[in-house]
Amino acid sequence: MKIIRTVDGVREAVREARAQGGTVGLVPTMGAFHAGHLSLMQAARAANDLVVVSLFVNPTQFGPTEDLDAYPRDEARDAELAEQQGVDILFAPEAAEIYPDGFATTIHVSGLTDVLDGAARGAFHFDGVATVVTKLFGIVAPDDAYFGQKDAQQVLVIRRVVRDLNLPVRIHACPIVREPDGLAMSSRNVYLDADARQRAAALNRALEAAASVHEAGERNAAAIVGAAERVLADAGILPDYLELRSNDDLHPLETVDGDALLAVAARVGAARLIDNHVLKGTR
Ligand code: AMP
Repeated sequence: MKIIRTVDGVREAVREARAQGGTVGLVPTMGAFHAGHLSLMQAARAANDLVVVSLFVNPTQFGPTEDLDAYPRDEARDAELAEQQGVDILFAPEAAEIYPDGFATTIHVSGLTDVLDGAARGAFHFDGVATVVTKLFGIVAPDDAYFGQKDAQQVLVIRRVVRDLNLPVRIHACPIVREPDGLAMSSRNVYLDADARQRAAALNRALEAAASVHEAGERNAAAIVGAAERVLADAGILPDYLELRSNDDLHPLETVDGDALLAVAARVGAARLIDNHVLKGTR
């Protein structure tokens, strides 16, 4: 595996692979790898000749009061894990390589980013994500790019950018990888102390409670959400949001008939965590 820090370096490596007729898969990440990241690398490895993983803690998607400085970083460990997955290139640029002086372009997706994490964190978050991912698509020019369903809204935003800008890349959403007690794996789980770590499992339990109410035939959104709310309240967790929305344009639902996204965000101890379940529609 090669570690490359420059845009020109990645372009050169991709050009060589393409000259031999190879396909290119990209996995964008912010590092601090866990089994969720590794599952995306495995999916990319299984389907492409050249696998590029980007490792970039993108400053523009963090707000001034968020955890950019504290965000866990361990490039040496990440490089070892990526190599074990058969990754060909780890693209780990400095911020100035991605945002040189005079950088002035932002990709903003309207509507989809006004709700859930866009509302809770602010518009800057998905603007930062959409802009850096669009840049990565421009730099690597992948055939396929792999994202986690853990960040469900992010997947919808990226799919919309790709559709609206006619970008020639296929987007794959990979299943959420969880700890044995159901907590979705996240680089931010390292912020949890023992008590918070135990309470954090209530997020998935709450989503499961709502999913089983839905499975039993409940179609009223408030009733479904209410089942999740009770589990969170029992664990002493007050969510930033807990909402049931359509799984395409994220419009709010009163009644669930098609596929629905039940999404939650909550501060648990020192970490802000997100999780979601897709409730499969009967239509
Ligand atoms: P991050 O480094 O947190 O930006 O995540 C990089 C990619 O890994 C994103 O597409 C995430 O959605 C995905 N990811 C993060 N956690 C998980 C998880 N528990 N299961 C599956 N994918 C994940």
